[in-house]
This record gives sequence, structure tokens and C-alpha cells, in this order.
Amino acid sequence: MELNALSPEQQKLDLKYMKAALKQAEKALAIGEVPIGAVIVYDGRIIGRGYNRRNTDHTTLAHAEITAIRKACKKMGDWRLEGCTLYCTLEPCPMCAGALVQSRIDRVVIGAASPKSGCGGTLLNILQNEDFNHQAEITAGVMQEACTEILQRFFKALRVRNKAEKKARRAAEAAMMAKKDAEAASNTL
Ligand SMILES: [Zn+2]
Repeated sequence: MELNALSPEQQKLDLKYMKAALKQAEKALAIGEVPIGAVIVYDGRIIGRGYNRRNTDHTTLAHAEITAIRKACKKMGDWRLEGCTLYCTLEPCPMCAGALVQSRIDRVVIGAASPKSGCGGTLLNILQNEDFNHQAEITAGVMQEACTEILQRFFKALRVRNKAEKKARRAAEAAMMAKKDAEAASNTL
């Protein structure tokens, strides 16, 4: 959104940290979760990392951003994340955008936009609602292609897997029916 206003140095740093967020997304992918990752940077250092573990941890709270916030707060020894920037591969959902506003984070850098739950401007702009007591600066579209590609890769594999499972289920059902028919036929003999 404000990519042009950023210095070349800052743009370079944004790429570096978005790559780190993508690395987190890869971790989610490796355990079969929707690949979303986030990191929080303070003073040129990553102080919190997180990736989606919703299914693994059986909690809706295990979003990448929430985990990154929790870890960053622990490191800062404060609930406030003033002076920090969060990098996330996918635009934050309402829960995470709300938590980010609560944390008073300075800046949020977003990879891919989320048409289904994006609250950094796509569906709502919770991060910059003037009625709240805090607004975060947003930079969107950083490494957008790579952030979208990893999600597409996951959903494509999921579709293939679902299709294969459906096929196997149908084959099992057909085999059962055939067996029943054969039994019925032998009983009438
Ligand atoms: Zn979220």
C-alpha cells in the first residue's frame, strides 16, 4: 500500500523478514496445517515467531500472529509491542488484527491479501480504524506471489487428497455391495 514511500533499505529489510515469516509458514505446511507464518521484529531482531497450528493444538487461538505476539511479549516483558513490526504471510483475521491493535504494534507488513477474513483492509480495516485508540501502519503485498503460492500448493494437495479418499470410499462401498449381492445370490440357490 505504501511500498513506494519506503526507503530501499526498508524494502530490503521487509523482504528479509517476510522470508522469515514464509519459513514459519513452511513449518505449518510440514505438519499439514494451512501454511501461514508470522514474525515480529524489534530493533533489527526477530523477537517472536509463529505459524498456524490450529488443528494440531485443537484451538482457534493457535494462529501464527497470536503465537508470535505471545512470544514477543514474553521477550519484551510487556504486553505493549510499541516499536515492533509484525510480518505475516496472510492478511490478519479479525481475531489477530484485534490482538495487534491491542498490542499497540507500530507496523504490520502483509504478504497475501485474504478475501475471506482479511482485516487489514480487504473486508475490514481493523488495524487502522480511527475509532480505536491505536492504528498500525500497513504495508501490503510484500512477496505476495510466494505467500499466495504456498497457500495454493496446500489447497491443491488437499483437493487431490480429498478426491483420492472419496474414490477409495466409493470403491469400498461398491465392493461391499458386490459381496452382499453374491451372498444373497448364494442364499437363494
Ligand atoms: Zn488470525
